[in-house]
This record gives sequence, C-alpha cells and structure tokens, in this order.
Amino acid sequence: MKKNVAILGSTGSIGTQALEVIEANPEVFSISVLTAGENADLLIEQAVKFRPEEVVICNHAHFEKVKAALSSFNIKVYSGAGALVSVVEKENIDIVLTAMVGYAGLLPTIHAIKAGKDIALANKETLVVAGELITSLAKQFGVKIYPVDSEHSAIFQCLAGEENNPIEKIILTASGGPFRGKDHAFLANVTKQQALKHPNWSMGAKITIDSATLMNKGLEVIEAKWLFDLQASQIDVIVHPQSIIHSMVQFEDGSVKAQMGLPDMKLPIQYALHYPFRLKSAFPRLNFTDYPCLTFEKPDLETFRNLAIAYEALEKKGNAACIVNAANEIAVEAFLHDKIGFLDISDVIVESLAKIEYVGNPSYFDYVQTNEATRRFASELIQVKV
Ligand code: NDP
Ligand code: MG
Repeated sequence: MKKNVAILGSTGSIGTQALEVIEANPEVFSISVLTAGENADLLIEQAVKFRPEEVVICNHAHFEKVKAALSSFNIKVYSGAGALVSVVEKENIDIVLTAMVGYAGLLPTIHAIKAGKDIALANKETLVVAGELITSLAKQFGVKIYPVDSEHSAIFQCLAGEENNPIEKIILTASGGPFRGKDHAFLANVTKQQALKHPNWSMGAKITIDSATLMNKGLEVIEAKWLFDLQASQIDVIVHPQSIIHSMVQFEDGSVKAQMGLPDMKLPIQYALHYPFRLKSAFPRLNFTDYPCLTFEKPDLETFRNLAIAYEALEKKGNAACIVNAANEIAVEAFLHDKIGFLDISDVIVESLAKIEYVGNPSYFDYVQTNEATRRFASELIQVKV
C-alpha cells in the first residue's frame, strides 16, 4: 500500500523538495492533493506530473487558468483559502505535509487533525501560534505530528528508542545566519538582498529573513516546547555555523546525542513522511574530513533581540507567541518591501507585544482575534515609521 500524501504549499521550497523525495520513491508514495498560493504555472506542471486527485490554487484570479490547463485530466480544481480546509479531509489521505508559510497554515492543519490525518509539520508558525490547541487536538484525535524542521527532526531522531528516558534538555543549533558576529551599527543599514543570502540553506523568503534576525530560532524554541513537551529552561540554543549537527538531546545521565548530516531538507522531509522507516537515498553523504572543525558559540541575544523576545513569549504563555508571530509576519513583509529597516523588525514585535491584549487561556477564536488585532496594529505602526 502506497502512502497517500497531501502537500499544502507544494510550490514552495519545502513543497518542491518533498516532491523530489516522492518522485524518487514512486513505490512508496502517491500524491492526493497539491496546493499553491499564487504560482499557477508551477502548480499546473506539478499536477500534470504527479496526477493528484485535487488541487487548490488559493488566489482565485488564477482559477480559470489552472482549470483550463488541467481539464483533460481527472483532477478536481478548487480555489480560495476555504478549499484548503476541505481538501485535507479527503478520506484516502494518509499524511498531510503542511508546507505553507505563516499563520495561514493554522486552520487547514486543525481540519486535517480533526479528520484524523497524521501531520508532517513544516509550518512551524502553526505550533508557535496555537501549540497548546494543536497538541491537545492531536491527542484527542489520535494523530501523530512528525517534525520536518531540521532541528526538530534531529531531536526526534535522537529520541528514537529512548521512550522511557526523560529529556534533561535539548540543544537547538543555529547557523547564526548571514549577519553572525555583526553589531548593531552594521545591522542598521543592511539590505534585504544581504539578508536573503543565507550561508547554508536555500529557503523561502520569509524564513530566510527570520534566520537573519534569529527569529527563526525563536520560533523553533517555541515549536520544540510543543513538539517535545518541554519547559523553556530545557531548551538551549547554540550557534554552530557549519550546520552539520542539526540539534542535540541531553539525557538525565548527562549523555548527549546529536544528529548530523549535510544541510539538506530532503532528509528530514523524507523521515517525517515515512517514519519510522529510513528510505535508501541518493542524497550527498557527509564526509567528516571536509569539516575538520565544528565550532560552537553563544547566541548574541542583545544584538539579535528576536530570540530573546521569543523566549519571553514562551514564558508569558497564553496568546503572547501568537502576537509575536503576527507582528513578525507583518514586519518581515514590510522589510521585504523596503518599508522598514532590519532593526525595526524587533521594534514592531516588542511594541505589539506590549500593546495587544493578553489572553491567558486562549480559544481558537481568541487566536484569530489576536492575529487580526496584531496585524492591524503592526501595520499601522509601520505606516507611522515610513
Ligand atoms: P515558501 O515561501 O518557499 O513556500 C510557501 C508555500 O506556501 C508556497 O507553495 C506558497 O504558494 C504557499 N503559500 C504562501 N502563502 C500562502 C497562503 N496565504 N495561502 C496558501 N498558500 C500559501 O516557504 P518555505 O517552503 O521556505 O517554508 C514553508 C514552511 O516551512 C514555513 O513555515 C517555514 O518556516 C517552514 N520551514 C521551511 C524550511 C526550508 O528549508 N524552506 C526549513 C524548515 C521549516 P505560492 O508560491 O504558489 O504563492
Ligand atoms: Mg530549522
């Protein structure tokens, strides 16, 4: 029996790499659903090649184009965000890969869980915004959440066979991004072109900027809290510029396990899609003599404030991380449109966290409201700054 996969965000960096994994293992996987935001041409190309039963193009303006292009195939075409929540419920889907970017991934993930689908989770924002809700729904509906993020996949891999051994702490590795070692004065003038040049990973624009500000690591700290049921004090971050150790787990006897490999998202994607089995792959192998020196540094939380802000949100609990996420999404978008500077990103988040109403025990509705209110506030703040 093949595993039937739905990919939310198949046209993105994770989505296209997942399709490479699936193409390399046609006897293991089949594709049930593909979805895209804007990129109709690539979605059409993917649909013709992988023959899903259903596709969704979120931007309705491209609906007719996609429908016409796929009219001679037996593929249903839908448009709009509403279609995302219904396609994931399809009976024959075994696993949903959430590879959309940002808050938009939350609602389809909730629907997939409620329909009993296992989740291969790339869309970390879902757990950042509503980790408590998502993990309790997963328990309630007997659904597994397999991490795709390389650090969390590393920890997940280190935990295999350790079910009865409590975690003392985890150590998330961070490359440090393109501005590692730079100071405040330098960061004040960096451009989006500089920020988009990640030293080790090729990823979508939003996560690449998040990596440059260290917000990505902050989001990953929160993601780890929910995936592995940890306290903030059990989650350390260490800068490891070579990105060979993808993360580590320290157990109660002091032993530390690390998962290593070349930086390549296809491995964690494949592990999440086919857990607990390791598929033979043709991915390039790690040659240790190419990396004679693996180094480690403390992150600079004063210059890269976003990581400290994420820890603060984690300690605050409630809707604090939802506020941080929404403000960050708006600020990153504004930075990518040259509306604000690199350092303004943290200011927008700090001001939003101070201003938006705190909710201690949020419902789904509270998250929706918090997200909207924060986006409005952060957008207005940016208008004033411009
Ligand atoms: P990309 O920007 O490359 O891709 C995002 C995908 O989501 C595209 O298919 C895009 O469609 C679609 N999309 C974007 N916005 C919407 C929307 N509002 N509604 C519906 N679809 C939408 O992102 P990445 O692949 O880099 O990242 C995806 C997720 O995975 C993020 O949450 C990221 O943090 C996480 N992740 C990514 C890693 C990486 O290496 N890239 C590593 C670890 C985690 P289109 O392009 O057609 O508009
Ligand atoms: Mg990561």
